[in-house]
Amino acid sequence: MNKEDPIVGRFAPSPTGPLHFGSLVAALGSYLAARSQGGRWLVRMEDLDKPREVPGAAADILRTLDAFGLHWDGDVMFQSRRTESYRDALQSLSSAGLAYACVCSRREIAALGKRSALGLVYPGRCRERQSLDGAHSIRVRTDEAIIEFHDRIQGRQRQDLGTMIGDFVIRRADALFAYQLAVVVDDAEQGINQVVRGSDLLDSTPRQIHLQRKLGLPQPDYSHLPLAVTIHGEKLSKLTSAPAVDRDRPGPELLRALNFLGQSAPRALASQAVEEILAWAARHWRTESVPAVKSLAVACDGEQTAA
Ligand code: GLU
Repeated sequence: MNKEDPIVGRFAPSPTGPLHFGSLVAALGSYLAARSQGGRWLVRMEDLDKPREVPGAAADILRTLDAFGLHWDGDVMFQSRRTESYRDALQSLSSAGLAYACVCSRREIAALGKRSALGLVYPGRCRERQSLDGAHSIRVRTDEAIIEFHDRIQGRQRQDLGTMIGDFVIRRADALFAYQLAVVVDDAEQGINQVVRGSDLLDSTPRQIHLQRKLGLPQPDYSHLPLAVTIHGEKLSKLTSAPAVDRDRPGPELLRALNFLGQSAPRALASQAVEEILAWAARHWRTESVPAVKSLAVACDGEQTAA
């Protein structure tokens, strides 16, 4: 990314439920990082995984962003309408000899016995298979890919993809394109040069950089925010019964999210209109003030402690 390029950031929610505090943090952090530099901020609905989608959640998330004054530029991109582009990317990896069909079940992969701190590692058992036709997953090769990058919040990162992950799935056995491929194709299509998101995706970033390199796409700048977790260390989500953010009280919720992100906002701001709060926050945004930790626990009363 060139210094003079205008910033283009994004928020890319999955419509699996209403916006909760954790997703508000990601929306706000990415919004402020872009707006504080006069950049554009786009929204992409990651509705690729239809089986996990909750009906009405996409519209509900957009309504909440609006109520919080988080207005995006241009039209929302919907991944469910982007299959053609993912197919082209798959074709290009396949033509370069980098993609192959895999017929191994999860159980078989587990039995192969290769594991890393990130979970099961696929040792490339199906690598010699030629045809991509049929109902099976498709993997991309990761030979000797050691990926290093600088994260603006979490610092220097390094991952040996082959050892830690192995060849990974880019199209699932149910024919759905995998998140890792879709996110790379879409970030490039939308001209995103600044990715700000939760640190639960930090370990995925090397896979995305690997695909960017193999597809000849630019690498955005990355910042991974601390993840909001329960006092038991679990990510806030539907599973941990995280409540939806309250659309009728956007001020206090925004203040809480700003404090979570280490931006010490004056308390009195909470009673202001969302536009005032966001204008203050964009003027005072400092990425260096965001706590450089992977997660922060939030208690029900909104207090937080480092996890
Ligand atoms: N859709 C993903 C999520 O909601 C975020 C993807 C991204 O920001 O790259 O967790």
